[in-house]
This record gives sequence, structure tokens and C-alpha cells, in this order.
Amino acid sequence: MSHLSKGEKQTWLLIREKIREKTTPQQFTTWFAGLCMIKFNVDEICVLAPNTYCKEWLEDNYSDFISSVVNEVTNTNYKLKLIVKDRKNPADYDPSTHYKLHPTDVEKRTYINKNYNFKNFLVGPCNRLAHAAALAVSDAPGTAYNPLFIHGPVGLGKTHLLHAILLHIQKRSNQFNTLYLPCESFVNHYISTIKSGDWDAFRKRYRQIDVLLIDDIHFLSNSQSTREEFFHTFNALYSRRKQIVLSSDCPPEDIPTIEDRLISRFKWGLMTRIDPPSFETSVAIIQKKTALLNINISYEAVRYLAVNASSSIREIEGTLINIARHASLSPGKSKIDISLIKQVIKSFTRQKNYIGIEEILNSVTKNFGVQLSQLHSKRKLKSIILPRQIAMYLARKLTNLSLEEIGGYMGGRDHTTVIHADKKIRKLKKIDRNISITLRKIESELTKQHKH
Ligand code: ADP
Ligand code: MG
Repeated sequence: MSHLSKGEKQTWLLIREKIREKTTPQQFTTWFAGLCMIKFNVDEICVLAPNTYCKEWLEDNYSDFISSVVNEVTNTNYKLKLIVKDRKNPADYDPSTHYKLHPTDVEKRTYINKNYNFKNFLVGPCNRLAHAAALAVSDAPGTAYNPLFIHGPVGLGKTHLLHAILLHIQKRSNQFNTLYLPCESFVNHYISTIKSGDWDAFRKRYRQIDVLLIDDIHFLSNSQSTREEFFHTFNALYSRRKQIVLSSDCPPEDIPTIEDRLISRFKWGLMTRIDPPSFETSVAIIQKKTALLNINISYEAVRYLAVNASSSIREIEGTLINIARHASLSPGKSKIDISLIKQVIKSFTRQKNYIGIEEILNSVTKNFGVQLSQLHSKRKLKSIILPRQIAMYLARKLTNLSLEEIGGYMGGRDHTTVIHADKKIRKLKKIDRNISITLRKIESELTKQHKH
């Protein structure tokens, strides 16, 4: 960072802090802690990544995220340029900020949340099977269901269940050697082992355990060689009847680029899906969480939240935490009522609704050179399907409109079409560089229009 001005250093620190706020400690240490800022150009910022792998991973998975944070902090639409250390031009980086990952770091960073236990997990029709399977596995690791594969959209309790299994097993006896880790850590450990060459330690670590829990296994999709290694790890454990538990945001066959032999292995045991909670389950969860947060909330307000808060439990929790914060700012009120809740939800919605569907449609038609009427039409030409799906994906991502509303704006399509489009583009984005570049461009155009 040596040739940055004081102001630029300050800006970079702010960006880093924002990234830290918006990521889990795990993600931050794995992918962001090692970055350092090199240069601010007129329309571009150059950031040094510790290695090519990290650079590519960030480009594929986090570039929109980093750009949006940079834009948020600087109010300027910088292009992000990630580079790796150039041996010919060592002056370009400051070795003191160079980041090294030791295999043992993986261990240190694995963090188990003690509150994510079975006691705090509310069971409803949406997660009953996943919960029952998780309990069965923790009662008899390696015998009940192997592997146990839990999938479902974010924020519905997959990580919670994985932690609960581990806590339960550890509490019952110390005869089991357990290991929980986010898939990103496995990937990273693999990469650092390529550099260190210490395969003995690597294999020993993963193959001498009784219960291996890997969270967000869909992240394996990005690296073929890591999948290969995971395949061997899986086989080694499975053949010795060791328990394997995996979570993913989609069923195995929907993980992009993953090989059939892995898919079929994931299906050997029990696959179970977690669905968004029904109204009744949401009410029960909200009541439990308000009790934990020690907030006093009327039943009407709970009902209102259950109907209006998002389908993700994580978002419900976020809303409640905000409500608790608001409530503590106006201590006159003893009970939280609907009006306060509406206020909190509205302030959320306003932020999310900032970009309108019209702007998205405008931007998409302009970038792809198609007409709005073509997007609305029923024509199935490839050149029109893609922009149409991109528009739906962006509307999902950037607005607060419901699936039905988005379908309505897209020429009266139904919600399953919107879900399909959203999934499809998210997948494509990971494997197709052109698409990911185009998306980034459109998104930054859209956010730029809102800068003052
Ligand atoms: P995922 O891993 O599926 O994205 P998490 O396990 O991180 O979701 O859950 C998000 C939040 O919602 C966590 O705070 C978790 O405790 C909470 N949560 C999810 N499902 C339940 C449930 N059934 N009962 C209580 N809390 C839940
Ligand atoms: Mg999770």
C-alpha cells in the first residue's frame, strides 16, 4: 500500500471494513483478508490478490459484491481489477501485506455457533424430514443415513442443522472425531497443500475422521481438481462407514459442472430438502426468536411479520434485530406494535426497491439490442430468451417485487418461469465469463443511475 495517498488508504480501509461487515468471518478470512490495494486509477481500482486461485475465485464469485461495496463507499463506479503478484515488477506490491495460509489455519477458523443446537431449532412441515434425519445421524453416526445431503435456499437452517449434529455428537461422547467445515475451507486447504506439497497431512486430516460435515458443498463446482480430491476423500470415508453430512443450496444434479460420479454418490444416502416455512411455522419461529431477543411483541405484530417478512428465516431474524434496535431507541413504548414493524420493514423495502423494473428492462434492452416487445413476446429465439431471463434475474436480485409481479412485467409469465430464469442465470453466471461480465456491466449501470 506504500504508494497510496493517505485518503486512498483510508478509503481502502473503509472498503475492507464494509466487506468484513457483509461477510461471515469465515468468508472474510478465506477470501478478503489477504487482499491489498495497489492503485486508484481514474476509473479503476487495482487490488492485489495473494494468488491466481484466489483472484479467479473472487472474479467468479464475488466480483459483483466487491464492486458494489466499492461503489457504496466511494460513490464512484470504479472498475475492479484484480491482479496477482507480478514477479517482474515486485515494486507493485508490499510484501508485508502478503497473505499466507497455513493448513492449520483451517482448523482455527472453523467456528461452531453453540446456539445452533437442536433445542433452538424449530420444527415444522418445511424442515421436519431434514431435522429427523439430522437427529438420526447424530444418534448413530455412520449407520443411519450416509451421506446425509441437506439442500434448500439460503437462510433456512442448513448450517444450523450441521452445527446441531456436531454439537450433539460431541456432547454425547468424545469417541468420535468430528470435523465441520465450510466448503470454501476445504477448497482453500487443498490449494495451500498444492503449494506446500504436504499431502500426507492433508489426507490424514480428512481421512481419519468419523464424522465429516461440509457446508455449502455447491462451492466445489468451481474447481475440478478439488472435486477430484473430494471424491477420494468421500470414498475413503464412506468405505470405512464414516458419517458424511453435506449441505447445498440446490440438489446435487443442479450444482454446475459437477461430475455424475459425485452426484450419484451424494444420492447414495438420504437427500432431504428444507422448504421456506409456512405461515404457522414462521409464527412459531418469530415467537421463539423474540423470546430469545427479549423483545415484547404483540400477536398481531407477529402475524404481520410472518406474512410480510421474507421467506428466509435469516431475514426474519434480521428484521427482528432491527426492530429490537428501533424499540430500544424509543423506550416510551413497552410493546412493539404493527406501526413500528411497518416502519422497519418499509425502510428495508425502500433500500431494496431503489432500482425499478422499468430501469432494468431499459438497460437490458439497450445492452442486448432487443425491443421491449420482444422480451414480452412468447418467441423462443435464443437471442431473446437470454435477455428475457437476465431481466427476470436482475428483477429478482435488485427489486423487491414478488415472483408474480416480475412475471407480470415480463409479458404475463407465471412465477415458475421467473424462478427458472433466475436459477438459470445464476448458474450461467458461474460458468460463462461473457455473461458474468455483461451482468456486472448492467448492474453497475443501474446502480450508477442512482448516485447523486
Ligand atoms: P442456511 O445455512 O440454510 O443459509 P442458517 O442455518 O444460517 O441458514 O440459518 C439462518 C438463521 O436462521 C440462523 O440464525 C438460524 O438459527 C435461523 N434458523 C433457520 N431455521 C431455523 C429453525 N427451524 N428454527 C430456528 N431458527 C432457525
Ligand atoms: Mg449456511
